[in-house]
Amino acid sequence: MTNKPHQHENHEHSTSGQRQAANAIERACDVAVIGGSAAGLAAALQLGRQRRSVIVVDAGEPRNAPAAHMHSYLGHEGIAPSEFLEIGRNEVRSYGVEVLAGRALDVTRIGDDRFRVELAGGNTVLARRIVLATGLVDVLPDIDGVAEHWGGDVIHCPFCHGYEIRDQRIVTVVTSPVGLHSAGLFRQLTNRLTIVIHTGVDIDQPEVDVLRRAGVDVVAGPVERLVTGADGRLAAVEVTDAGLIAADAVVVATRFEVRADAVASLGVATVAHMTGLGHVVDVDATGATSVPGVWAAGNVTDPSQQVLQAAASGSWVGGTPATAATGSGAATRTAPSSQRSLRSKPGAHSILALARAATPCGSPSKDGP
Ligand SMILES: Cc1cc2nc3c(=O)[nH]c(=O)nc-3n(C[C@H](O)[C@H](O)[C@H](O)COP(=O)(O)OP(=O)(O)OC[C@H]3O[C@@H](n4cnc5c(N)ncnc54)[C@H](O)[C@@H]3O)c2cc1C
Repeated sequence: MTNKPHQHENHEHSTSGQRQAANAIERACDVAVIGGSAAGLAAALQLGRQRRSVIVVDAGEPRNAPAAHMHSYLGHEGIAPSEFLEIGRNEVRSYGVEVLAGRALDVTRIGDDRFRVELAGGNTVLARRIVLATGLVDVLPDIDGVAEHWGGDVIHCPFCHGYEIRDQRIVTVVTSPVGLHSAGLFRQLTNRLTIVIHTGVDIDQPEVDVLRRAGVDVVAGPVERLVTGADGRLAAVEVTDAGLIAADAVVVATRFEVRADAVASLGVATVAHMTGLGHVVDVDATGATSVPGVWAAGNVTDPSQQVLQAAASGSWVGGTPATAATGSGAATRTAPSSQRSLRSKPGAHSILALARAATPCGSPSKDGP
């Protein structure tokens, strides 16, 4: 194993057009994991236990950071996202994995079997394999008040926080056709559900009729803003033609942007997600990307994964480079995965699978109109 720091004290070299600072530190390891949340730490745990030298670089912005609690993770139900990650970091460190706070700016290939990961601040990590576990950014609907309450009284995922708002006055603001898909799930959680179809959204009328028959109020019209009460909590949704609709919680769907800039210059391929709400890093069944030696796991490959699935994805991928790094032959991509076909062929899958892919920590909408 090689995991020794050495400093460039007397010279500078250029990386990706930037000058590396004097005294910058260069580290070498078997596997550099970029992103140290559920997927990245789970990958690192596998690799560390295979006695691989691993450096995790993490910018500290997990997707669920706005939420106070994390739900639906068996064994960790209801703990704070930050506490979950602290447990994970301690676990991987116990196997010699190093977790660095920092941001990977660019990854370049050097020679046949090595990558240089350039970090913000000028330090670098040299690695034989890369695991990308950088997640994604939710792009919120451009409606006043949504960002303010995001992760609190504004949610997107019935599986993550739906139970916590059961029986309450829930208003689903539909800003894209996909935004309607979670309505049936929320109807299961409350009988006080209102759906507001934002102007310009091309909705599926039969789906709306089914919801109406199930007792859901459906309102059409531009959403002006979310109204905050004197206590700082969400109070209502203001709709141009319908006035104020009292609300304890609002559901929105988000568009998403995967955080794959760091591997862009390597040419890692992305593919459109089946919802049309963003692109994901294209991986095969092993998590291999289009670039040999680079794997990806978690939300950067699939926005519908909750934390448990992201960790499982990282755990799976962490086993792959562990194996590949020991062999002499070059790792190759396998046949397209079931994951990939789920993304590209929605019609071939069950309604539940489609609803999951469309709603959960998934996806939906920004400005549908
Ligand atoms: C508001 C909200 C609440 C949620 N609540 C729940 C819940 O209760 N239960 C649940 O199961 N799921 C929940 N989710 C979904 C959950 O956030 C994701 O499933 C999970 O975060 C995906 O894990 P990940 O490791 O793939 O990515 P992330 O957790 O997003 O982690 C990616 C990490 O990579 C880092 N990173 C990104 N780019 C770089 C870079 N260039 N260099 C270094 N590091 C980088 C980021 O800073 C971050 O730390 C919620 C999502 C949202 C939006």
